[in-house]
Amino acid sequence: MKADIKSMNQEELGGFLISLGEKPFRAKQLYPWLHKKHAESFEEMTDISNKLKEKLINSCEFTVLKQVSVQQSRQDGTRKYLFALPDGNMVESVLMRYKHGNSVCISSQAGCRMGCRFCASTLDGLVRNLTPSEMLDQVYRIWRDIGERVSHVVVMGMGEPLDNYENLLKFIRLLSDENGSSISQRNLTVSTCGIVPNMRKLAEERLQITLALSLHGATQEKRQALMPIAKKYEIHQVVEACKYYFQKTGRRITFEYNLLGGENDKDEDARQLGALISGMNCHVNLIPVNPIRERDYVQPDKDTVLNFKNKLEKYGINVTIRREMGRDIDGACGQLRKRFSERQGEG
Ligand code: SF4
Repeated sequence: MKADIKSMNQEELGGFLISLGEKPFRAKQLYPWLHKKHAESFEEMTDISNKLKEKLINSCEFTVLKQVSVQQSRQDGTRKYLFALPDGNMVESVLMRYKHGNSVCISSQAGCRMGCRFCASTLDGLVRNLTPSEMLDQVYRIWRDIGERVSHVVVMGMGEPLDNYENLLKFIRLLSDENGSSISQRNLTVSTCGIVPNMRKLAEERLQITLALSLHGATQEKRQALMPIAKKYEIHQVVEACKYYFQKTGRRITFEYNLLGGENDKDEDARQLGALISGMNCHVNLIPVNPIRERDYVQPDKDTVLNFKNKLEKYGINVTIRREMGRDIDGACGQLRKRFSERQGEG
């Protein structure tokens, strides 16, 4: 199997070059081409000798994702990308343009095995984990495509990042490396459905990233009806793991709460949620759910959403309502890929 050069840190790259009979300092030349200039091929690397390029071509996998389609919102400039991985699997990534900079949401797996009831990404199960280079290249391709710096990254697309733990960790370290793209860890958010042992492990790494927990239900009963993983890791364990993460890293937790019309958006739900997390150093992000074709969810109306927010704020909790980006090119996360494979099937 060829070496995955874009998944190597500078030290590993040095070791790899030695194995090719090269001087390790060449890593200092090569690394910025991969992680700072986001080169698409070895040919582009003007200060690398042809002899070395040839060796690299013969011994390395150079992961570059292929843009299959892109849709752009006329309302806010959001761009939704469908990328093909080297083996032909598809993943989705989204660029959102904010005042504070460009933010990219990436996928961490092809498919997902978590089975959340409101999610299209999981309908066909998990295909495979993404490598660090495949996660990085979603950011790099978009960076190059728009010709502007990407300042924020959220790992919230297809897949459960903590189900691909080692690759995720490597991805974070490479992305935030000051010799590479140097995206501050403070501008990086990882979302999890609540894999408790890995949340605790992540806390021990003492990174400066934000951990976002997909909560979606304020009681064990409600949560497990929406998210099968909650049967394995109960709500109080998940909340304890969040507290542990804050204790170890000093980073405020984000709770993601999908508001599903008639299911978890009532006063009683807000009261239970408030009681569950009040006193924690946290922030709640309310997401009025995007209806998906395969599953029957309705979006709650504006008044219900505002009422829910007000009720939570009475507990002294910091709450925001997620602004819907790219509404005119809608389709909840995971749908782009699904529609594409359906079309392939039809064709
Ligand atoms: S919401 Fe996330 S964890 Fe749950 S099934 Fe979808 S991709 Fe997987």
